[in-house]
Amino acid sequence: TQSAPPLLHGVVVKSTGSWYVVRAASGQLYRCRLRGKFKMKGLKASNPLAVGDQVDFTVEAQAEGAGVISHIAPRRNYIVRRSVHKTGHVHIVAANLDQAMLVVTLVSPATSFGFIDRFLVTAEAYHIPVTLLFNKTDLYDEEGFAYQAEIAGMYASLGYPSRTCAASLGEGVAEIDQLLEGKVSLLAGHSGVGKSTLINALVPDLDLKTAEISDFSDKGVHTTTFAEMLEVRPGTFIIDTPGIKELGLVDLPPAELAGYFPEFRALLGQCRYHNCQHTHEPGCAVREAVDQGRIALPRYDSYLSMLAGEDNRH
Ligand code: GDP
Ligand code: ZN
Repeated sequence: TQSAPPLLHGVVVKSTGSWYVVRAASGQLYRCRLRGKFKMKGLKASNPLAVGDQVDFTVEAQAEGAGVISHIAPRRNYIVRRSVHKTGHVHIVAANLDQAMLVVTLVSPATSFGFIDRFLVTAEAYHIPVTLLFNKTDLYDEEGFAYQAEIAGMYASLGYPSRTCAASLGEGVAEIDQLLEGKVSLLAGHSGVGKSTLINALVPDLDLKTAEISDFSDKGVHTTTFAEMLEVRPGTFIIDTPGIKELGLVDLPPAELAGYFPEFRALLGQCRYHNCQHTHEPGCAVREAVDQGRIALPRYDSYLSMLAGEDNRH
C-alpha cells in the first residue's frame, strides 16, 4: 500500500514567478509549484504568491525537495509595487509583514522626501508600521546631526520612529537587531543607502543562506529583482528586496490619499468642501495647517506630487 504524500505547512521565502522556495516548519527548503490557478478577490496582481505567504504543500519528491502548493492562507497584509509586465496590475512584493524598516540617508546620497513619503503612504494604506533607519551617520558633521534630529523629530510626531546607524562600521546595528526580534521585517531603501551593508551586518552567514535559497529557485530565471526572506535567527526574519527601486508606488484613489497622511487625517472633516482635495479650495483646513507650520512643507509637497501622479523616483 502506498501512503499519502505528507502535507506540510511552510512560508514562501522566494518567488521567481513560476517556482516558489518554501521553508517548512522544520527549516527544510522545498522547491514548489502552484497547483491550479489562484486569484485573490479584488486584487489585480501579476503574481499569485509572494514572499511571506503561508502555504500548505504536498511533498512530491522528498529526495529532491520538490512540492506542490495546494493552499494559501489569507494574508494579514501585503506590500505592492507597480507591475512592470502587466499594465494596471500590481506585483505583490511581500505578504504578512510585522513591520517595515526603511533605510534612508541624508547625505551620500540624500534620499528624497518624496521617496520616503510615498513609501510611508503605501505602508499606511496596508497597515504596516514603519521605522526609519538613518544610515551613514559617520558622514555627518555637527550640522548634519542637528538636521537629522529635526527630520527624525518630524517623522516621530507623525508616528514613525527612527534609529540611526553607520552600517559599514557596525554602529547602531545591535539596536536595530533588537527591533527585529521575533518579527518578519521588510527592509527597503533607495539604492546606495547601505541596505546590503546593513543586511550583511544583521544576518549571520548571509552568503551561505542566499546561496542555499538560490539552489532551490529557478536557475534559468534572472532572480535578482525578487524579494527574499532571510533568517536572522530562529523566529526572526527579514525580507530583502534587491533591485526593487520603486517599492511603494501604488495607485490610490485621489480621494483616499490624504487619509494616508496621519497629520492630514485629523483635519479632513474640517475643510469647507467635503470633497476638498487640499490644493486650491477656499476654507481648506489642510492648507491652513501648512500655512501655520503645523504640517511640514515637504510633506505637503509629497502629497501634491502624489496627487498629480508624478513618478519622481528620486
Ligand atoms: P545598497 O544599494 O542600499 O544595498 O547600498 P550598499 O550596501 O551597497 O552601500 C552603498 C555604499 O555605501 C557602499 O559603498 C557602502 O560601503 C557604503 N556604506 C554603507 N553603509 C555605510 C555607512 O554607514 N557609512 C558610510 N560612510 N558608507 C556606507
Ligand atoms: Zn482641504
